[in-house]
This record gives sequence, structure tokens and C-alpha cells, in this order.
Amino acid sequence: MYPSIESSASASLHSHAAMVLLVDDQVIVGEAVRRALASEGNIDFHYCSGPDKALAMAIQTRPTVILQDLALPGVDGLSLVQEYRSHPVTRDIPIIVLSTKEDPASKSAAFGAGANDYLVKLPDSIELVARIRYHSRSYLALVQRDEAYQALRQSQQQLLESNMELRRLTNSDGLTGLGNRRYFDEYLNAEWLRARRDGREISMLMIDVDYFKSYNDTYGHIAGDEALKRVANTIFASCDRSSDLAARFGGEEFALVLPGTPAGGARLAAEKLRRAVAAMQIPQRDAGSGPWLTVSIGAATAVPRGEQPCTELIQAADRGLYQAKRQGRNRVVPGTI
Ligand code: GH3
Ligand code: MG
Ligand code: MG
Repeated sequence: MYPSIESSASASLHSHAAMVLLVDDQVIVGEAVRRALASEGNIDFHYCSGPDKALAMAIQTRPTVILQDLALPGVDGLSLVQEYRSHPVTRDIPIIVLSTKEDPASKSAAFGAGANDYLVKLPDSIELVARIRYHSRSYLALVQRDEAYQALRQSQQQLLESNMELRRLTNSDGLTGLGNRRYFDEYLNAEWLRARRDGREISMLMIDVDYFKSYNDTYGHIAGDEALKRVANTIFASCDRSSDLAARFGGEEFALVLPGTPAGGARLAAEKLRRAVAAMQIPQRDAGSGPWLTVSIGAATAVPRGEQPCTELIQAADRGLYQAKRQGRNRVVPGTI
């Protein structure tokens, strides 16, 4: 890659300097221009007598104006103009062509090739300096504008990223990384309304870790937190569709929202999840139901009607969960709505 155009041009920008590169095979022209600019404050001058080195020198010196001779030995000055125009570093640098003749056809060819200005050699130094300053200023303004746009784009991108991160943090539970209660409420409500509009079924599961108080008492709260994270990961992994939402409802209770899922599908998903938690074989001494940590699950399904609120779905899943606990835990029970 090339060093950035902006950095060198903005150095010129801040010192309000012009940087001139003259490409002309006649050393005497080089000397004349050098003298014309010598008494001018903050105009730097570079001279290139070999057309084959012109592009490389322009890339290296980063002029704010190129003075380009049209009649060069073995090379058409216009083809050099086209070369500057097609190189990313020199593409926008103003080019003043220096011609020997005041001729409309030659002028037209020069502007057609991408020149910005046309002077007949040798112009008097007042005109030359005025044009150099004019083109330098407009080039530096262009660079400054591009830099400002780029900075703006960068800060917009950063803002977008921090907003996304903020949203993720606002919606997720700190311990498990699942959706938090606030996000669950928002999501269930939105999906409930959508199901009502579409006349479709929506299901949810309420999942509660069995004998978790006893787990904490036996292994301590830190181990309890680890167990909750593992259960949460299993719940998250059980989400088959992108519209499924796994959330921490509170404490050791979790919820799964399953939009577009009928009762049979919800029960199957619940049963699969129940087995997956037991299959992790998290040891659970002193518990009533067996050697491993388990969950009880209440499942509920509805096609929302009229003004029916989504809390009815939560209550139905809760009823199922309550029955699952009563019937001995480590099971799935549907709750009626
Ligand atoms: P059940 O089978 O009836 O659900 O019994 P349980 O002991 O799981 O239910 P209970 O509601 O009596 O106790 C829940 C326990 O979950 C008590 C509480 O300390 C624990 N708990 C809730 N949130 C967290 C947490 O973030 N970390 C840990 N380590 N424990 C938690
Ligand atoms: Mg529990
Ligand atoms: Mg509980």
C-alpha cells in the first residue's frame, strides 16, 4: 500500500503550504520556475526532468500541484496526465499543463486527458504563483473534506457498534447470557401480537431447576452459579429456530418462547430439553429425585384471541410447572389456558 494521501496533504494544509512538482525535460525551464517561486513564502518546489520518473516522484513527494510539460522527448505529456489520473495517490492532484502553443485543439486534448489548467510557457511569475496557490488551496480543501467525511463515517460506525453492544447488554442476563426478564416480556408480547394477527399458535415453556436450594446448600453458591450457566447453555442450544427465545425468567427459572409452534411440538421440545439437562449428569447429592440435577417444565400453547393478554400464556405454563413439581419433578406437564 501507499502511505496515506491525507497525512502528507494535511501537513501541507495546516502549514498552508503549496508543494509544486514540475515535470519538464528542459533544465532551463526548471530553473526559471524555481526562481519564480523562490521568493514566495511556503511554496515548496520539486523538479523532475525525466518523464519516466515523473509518476514515481509524484507519489513520493505528494505535490499539491503538478506542472506538466506537454512536449517531452519520447513521451506524450498527455499520457502522463492520464497516468496521474489513474493512480490512487495522484488521482485528485491538480495538474497545470505547460504548452508551447496557444492552440484550441491542444487545449481541448489537455482538458480531455484530465488537466485542470493550461498555461503557455513561460507564464509570468504573478500568474504562475496565483494559479499554483489557487489549485493548491482547492486541492487541500478537497483533502480536508475527505478526511472529515472519513472521520465522520468512522465515528458513525463506532456509535453503531456501541449502540449494538449497549442493546445486547440491556437485553441480556449477566450470569447466563440468555435474554433477561425485561427482554423476555418485550419479546413475548411482540410475538403474542404477531400470532394474534396471523391467527397462529405460540407456545412457551417455563423451566425450573429441581431442588436447587438444596444444590446451593450442598455445593455452595458459586458452584450453583456454574450449574445455572450450564443449564442455560443447554436451554440455549435447544432453540431450533431463529425466532425461539431463551430467557432467564428469574432465579433458577427459565423461559422459552416458541413462536409458530403447536402444542405437540412444544411438548417434544420440552421433553428433549428435560433429557438434555439430565444427560449433563451434574451431580446432585441430597436431592429427592435422583443422582443428577434435573428440571421440571410447564408447557403452554395458544392462538391468542381478542384482548387476551400474553400473561395468560405465562400463567398456563406456570400451572403446568406447578403440576410437574407436584407429580415428582423431572418431567414435562402441559398447562391449560
Ligand atoms: P423446586 O424443586 O421446588 O424448584 O425447589 P428449589 O429448591 O429449586 O426451589 P426454591 O424456590 O425453594 O429455591 C430456589 C433456589 O434457587 C434458591 C436460590 O438461592 C437459588 N437461586 C436463585 N437464583 C440463583 C443464582 O443466581 N445463583 C445461585 N447459585 N442460586 C440461585
Ligand atoms: Mg427450583
Ligand atoms: Mg423456582
